[in-house]
Amino acid sequence: MKQDEADKSRASFPVLIAEDDPVSRKLLEKVLVRAGYEVVSVENGRKALERFDERFFPILLTDWVMPEMDGLQLCRAIRERDSDGYVFIILLTAHDSKDAIVTALEAGADEYLTKPFNHAELIARLNTARRILELEKSLKKANEEIRILSITDPLTGCYNRCYLSEHLPMEIKRARRYGHPLSLAMCDIDHFKQVNDRYGHRAGDCVLKAFVQRIQKSIRENVDWLARYGGEEFLIVFPDTGTKNAYCVAERLRRTIARNPIRIQETEIRITASFGVAGFDSAAADEKTSAETLIAKADSCLYQAKRKGRNMVISSPPAKT
Ligand code: GH3
Ligand code: MG
Ligand code: MG
Ligand code: MG
Repeated sequence: MKQDEADKSRASFPVLIAEDDPVSRKLLEKVLVRAGYEVVSVENGRKALERFDERFFPILLTDWVMPEMDGLQLCRAIRERDSDGYVFIILLTAHDSKDAIVTALEAGADEYLTKPFNHAELIARLNTARRILELEKSLKKANEEIRILSITDPLTGCYNRCYLSEHLPMEIKRARRYGHPLSLAMCDIDHFKQVNDRYGHRAGDCVLKAFVQRIQKSIRENVDWLARYGGEEFLIVFPDTGTKNAYCVAERLRRTIARNPIRIQETEIRITASFGVAGFDSAAADEKTSAETLIAKADSCLYQAKRKGRNMVISSPPAKT
């Protein structure tokens, strides 16, 4: 690790010190601050827990014998908590018998350091702590990236079917619990095969991406969401929205899509899309409405829109216009 990276790393791992002896506490503070750590120190375990309530400390350096709450009790309390990340605990101890070490590790300490501590050893232990915490950080980041990939359609960037099958039942449950309405719009690009045939599959891909962007721009951010259901078929979920309003949004989308050709390099590609809208209002939210039945309803409306000539929105119950 380069020097500036190491400085940054130390600064990003604040250390909480719990030590009742003021002389030791001041010494620990001094050594750590000189090494570039941000330090907060308290005189017992109870106060350390109070500090943890205020903010997260990835590293805890704690004495064993302290009044009110000792180091072992503090270790156990930290391990029982739900925290923002892993807390690396170093226990300072005057006991260096094997039994004492085992007790400390079993209480949840990661490392122990015998008193009087050696400065170089303390800094080396903190380096180990940072190395492990950095690993934890990158593992978390990788997991989050994998999670996002697993719910995202790689071509268009919208949610995929896997996300839909997990989240739509949750949305329905929530709507029912609060007595709110919920609607879906199933949409399918008309004669999309002809787009591929005429302009090529790559242009077809670009059309799909632009189609998704257009929908995403027109729906409520962080409320409504869109998932790719199949090839050129998408499902829009409108929480807190009755079928009448969902119909209006779908109709507005249909018009925007039909009126504004998609530009792929020098070519303007005109497309239209058909929509099937279904949902429930709070009063009509019967217990049997499931994600499957709602999707089937929207799909059957979409089928009718296709049969009636495409570039159309059909809703269930039918919208009076
Ligand atoms: P309709 O109006 O009845 O929906 O006609 P359509 O041509 O849109 O429907 P059809 O189901 O016959 O064809 C769908 C086409 O969508 C065929 C398939 O190759 C194309 N498609 C599906 N996924 C992709 C994709 O990821 N990229 C591209 N470029 N085309 C796709
Ligand atoms: Mg003590
Ligand atoms: Mg189609
Ligand atoms: Mg289709």
